[in-house]
Amino acid sequence: MLFSKLGLCSPIAQAIKELGYTTPTPIQKQAIPVIMSGKDLIATAQTGTGKTAAFVLPILERFSKVQTLRGKRVRALILTPTRELSVQVEANVALYSKHMNLTSMAIYGGVDTETQKQRLIEGVDILVATPGRLLDLIHQRALHFDKLEVLVLDEADRMVDMGFVGDINKIIDRLPEARQNLLFSATMTDDVRALSYGFSDDKASDQA
Ligand code: AMP
Repeated sequence: MLFSKLGLCSPIAQAIKELGYTTPTPIQKQAIPVIMSGKDLIATAQTGTGKTAAFVLPILERFSKVQTLRGKRVRALILTPTRELSVQVEANVALYSKHMNLTSMAIYGGVDTETQKQRLIEGVDILVATPGRLLDLIHQRALHFDKLEVLVLDEADRMVDMGFVGDINKIIDRLPEARQNLLFSATMTDDVRALSYGFSDDKASDQA
């Protein structure tokens, strides 16, 4: 199966081609059509399987259709357990969206909040964040989620292990109910499933 079968728009197809990807990985083959249909998804996927593109490409496809909003608004939020992963996922978003007019940003703890707040004033289409720092910025009213369309919990089991469940639930409480939810985890435990309780009933599950 080739990428062209997935029906991604040409700016995304072009970026993928430039990266030398020819065929989707198993998780991409299974997850991309489900996510593009607008359904919630809970997927078991290890690092190295291509899971980042599996959730980023359909988000880009969705945003290719409607223009960007401005002013402290976030359209997609990707929560990750660590600074390193936030940086890496955002770098992938930037690569895959290089031919599109979308903005992305990684935020994480351990650095000055002022620079992050300044950039958030402009609004960002795709925000990749660690839960603790994001909650700080929410409390400082640095961003609004009233236009949020998609939530991704990446490496959910690691976020549970690192004690982020409370922070994640506080963040989810701030999000509009009508949103698409995607959860990726290397292992599926009761604690990980509990994170998806606020997801809708039409969730599909997936294995890779
Ligand atoms: P991930 O599991 O998201 O960390 O991705 C692992 C690596 O696979 C990354 O370096 C990606 O750039 C690469 N990758 C993702 N999808 C594909 C694909 N369809 N073909 C070739 N490489 C890919």
